[in-house]
Amino acid sequence: MLKYDSYYFQCPHCQAWLEGRDLKAEMVNQSILYSDGKVLNDNLITTRQKMIMCPSCGHVFWIENPQEPFITYEKPEAEIYSWNTWRFFGISFSNNKGKLALINHYKTFLKKSHYEPKNEIYLRRFLWWAYNDLHRNHQHVRLKYLLNGFMSFGVWHENRKMILEGEKLFLKNMKGFTENLKRLLALLEKHPEEQIDLELPEIYRELRQFDKAKELLDKLGSRTHFTNEILRHSKWKDSRVFMVTG
Ligand SMILES: [Zn+2]
Repeated sequence: MLKYDSYYFQCPHCQAWLEGRDLKAEMVNQSILYSDGKVLNDNLITTRQKMIMCPSCGHVFWIENPQEPFITYEKPEAEIYSWNTWRFFGISFSNNKGKLALINHYKTFLKKSHYEPKNEIYLRRFLWWAYNDLHRNHQHVRLKYLLNGFMSFGVWHENRKMILEGEKLFLKNMKGFTENLKRLLALLEKHPEEQIDLELPEIYRELRQFDKAKELLDKLGSRTHFTNEILRHSKWKDSRVFMVTG
């Protein structure tokens, strides 16, 4: 049984057909939540990609509130560009070069034109996540991850090398990361309806404004595992993205 539902849509410029995928929630084995709000289900991001670059003609377009006939669940009788050819603009997450390319895609989109606040928030949030992807699973560099048998030595060693290199690249790109996050913060404060859960305290924490993060969390009535974890990392003055559950 397939773990996802396919849907199909056309590039408004050249009419090429593209295949998209929605993961079926009931088939998911493992779900991971990160502190920046990114969720992975079986290693796939669940948020539907709204900005598309056509793999056939390079035209960039949005699929906002998509409805039939623009999006159809019936397979058209035409040649179809598979999901992998266009999702995340065709980049590969298996190396840092791909991750940097994704950052550059978002930066270029943001430079090229002016967006409505809602769309700019979407792009800046994905840019934030893309920067964090450089050192997202930093805990995997610990020897513990080799010793508990999740990975073979070869896989652990290669993965460790990539994450440590990613951490260096992250620090090198700190200026871009900070600028983007400050702009995202200003937009979200102006448009609270676009905020996701604990996004604001988390942004303050990642900007190293730990007292402000704590202040916002203290205002929340109830405590959850998620709020406790952000507080704990704020106390440590640790600003790196971390895994909340998974
Ligand atoms: Zn096209």
